[in-house]
Amino acid sequence: MLLKELTGLLHAFEDRLTVRTQIAAAVAALSVILVGLLAIGAAFVSYSNTASQVNIRLASVASTTAERLDRYMAVRQQEVRLFSELETLRTLWQNDPATLRKALNQLQHSFSDFAWIGFARSDGMVAAATGGLLEGVSVAARPWFKAGLSESTIGDVHEAQLLSSLLAQRADGDPYRFVDIAVPVRDSPGDVIGVLGGHLNWDWARSLIANAEDNDGNTDTRIAVTSRSGTVLVGQSPGTVKFSGSRLSDILASRSGAFVETAGATSMLTAFYVGKGHRDYQGLDWIVTASQPASVALAAAVRSAKTILITGAITGLAGVAFAFFIALRISRPIRAITIEADRIGRTSGPTMLPRHNGSVEVVQLTRALRSLLRRIGFAEEQTRVAEARATENAMQFKDDISKLRRLADTDFLTDLMNRRAFLAAADDAMAFSLRYRRSMAVLMIDIDHFKQINDRHGHAAGDGAIKHIASIIVGNIKATDRAARFGGEEFMVLLREVDEGDARIVADRIRCMIEQTAVGEGATRISATVSIGIALLADNDRDVQDIIERADQGLYQAKNDGRNRTVFEPARLTPGSQVA
Ligand code: GH3
Ligand code: MG
Ligand code: MG
Repeated sequence: MLLKELTGLLHAFEDRLTVRTQIAAAVAALSVILVGLLAIGAAFVSYSNTASQVNIRLASVASTTAERLDRYMAVRQQEVRLFSELETLRTLWQNDPATLRKALNQLQHSFSDFAWIGFARSDGMVAAATGGLLEGVSVAARPWFKAGLSESTIGDVHEAQLLSSLLAQRADGDPYRFVDIAVPVRDSPGDVIGVLGGHLNWDWARSLIANAEDNDGNTDTRIAVTSRSGTVLVGQSPGTVKFSGSRLSDILASRSGAFVETAGATSMLTAFYVGKGHRDYQGLDWIVTASQPASVALAAAVRSAKTILITGAITGLAGVAFAFFIALRISRPIRAITIEADRIGRTSGPTMLPRHNGSVEVVQLTRALRSLLRRIGFAEEQTRVAEARATENAMQFKDDISKLRRLADTDFLTDLMNRRAFLAAADDAMAFSLRYRRSMAVLMIDIDHFKQINDRHGHAAGDGAIKHIASIIVGNIKATDRAARFGGEEFMVLLREVDEGDARIVADRIRCMIEQTAVGEGATRISATVSIGIALLADNDRDVQDIIERADQGLYQAKNDGRNRTVFEPARLTPGSQVA
């Protein structure tokens, strides 16, 4: 239901848009979607690429730094071990602390990173040391000493204990932090006679890291070193725990890798590398991390997206303009056809569409419209023919009807009106005369002794005589007067606008003419006379029958008076009118 309504709305909307607008809108929408998707895709790819590149670089920084740390440590351990094994020193360990101190001072001088180097005898008492520091003091409780009695060891970074008060204050006020190196010292038979210990000033590691950061070329790269327990050795807030729990165990288990760290509001791409040691040096599992803000990678992604959006927008605009142009070309012939088709039938111009081209559809449309117009023309022609035929038929019908009517009103022998038609005409004439106070007369004519004529000449000759007399009657009345054969050899004549005198003149003229003209030749020559009764319309006549009756009275009188004469029958006054 909702779908139907939506479709309806869409169609109503579409119907108001031109093809041009629709195509341009479709291309614009397509461009926006395409460019948007491309920009998102490119941003994603660019982010991933940059992030992985950053990670690769950070991983390399971390591993290089870790290896440098390990190598350094390995070399320092090697130095201490070599020193402990020097043949020339063998006699000095127990017997000549002053010379030993001298030798130790020289060693420290060569490797200034050593804050303190000293020899403690097997009972833990320091026999000789650089600068004479801690000489005569027992280090038996120090872990490095205890471990150093049995094997060459390195202890992890720790704050200075016994030496902290003896060494000069550090410039930044921080306590000294050391890495201990301890090796057992043996006599010729190989028995342990003491431990040679060295405290490496941890500052070397700080400067190594600072150096590595400087050399990296990316000012925002941060390198940190963390102990295997997750405590920061070099980096932000040393001494605090940076990694713990599963993160720490993951790092130690995988040895190298990368993750995203969130430090406050900024997230950092971080690569880590756990030192593996170097040659004899087993390593202390120092975790070296190299980090860079993730915004670096994001900035590259945003740059790519921006570039694609700008080029996409320009291409899209060009596409819309091109689509608009194409749509214009497509719709132009359709508009032309519409205008021309609309004009057909409105003006007196051509009734056929001209051919159009522009596309297969336009050619087909023109062809179909031309064919339609031809068919319409053919149908119109057929309609015209049918209409003409119908009109002809109608006229024929009308003609037939009027012929029939004339036939119904006409006496077949004489062509005069018959009784029915005469009575209708007389009714009309009487109504007219009464209304406009006009006069009107009726003549009733009967052939004298017609039976004899029939008997003498035959019925056909009698018919001939009837026709002859009819023609004499018609020839002696006006066009506006009417004559009728009333039946047998009896005629009726209606005279308009006549008084008694006029009527008598007309009647006598007819009678005389008949008397004087005979019909036929020789033995078939027929002479006939007629008797005529005359009546005038009177005010008190109720209908035409009253006048005809009076004319019949006149005729009767004429027959009785000897025939071949006219008798006027005056209207008798009614008793009512006599009184008036
Ligand atoms: P009258 O002078 O008294 O009129 O004598 P009449 O012989 O004319 O008598 P009537 O008028 O009564 O007779 C009419 C006769 O006319 C009767 C009939 O034989 C004859 N007739 C009537 N119609 C026709 C017709 O159509 N053709 C012919 N030939 N004769 C007709
Ligand atoms: Mg008669
Ligand atoms: Mg007669």
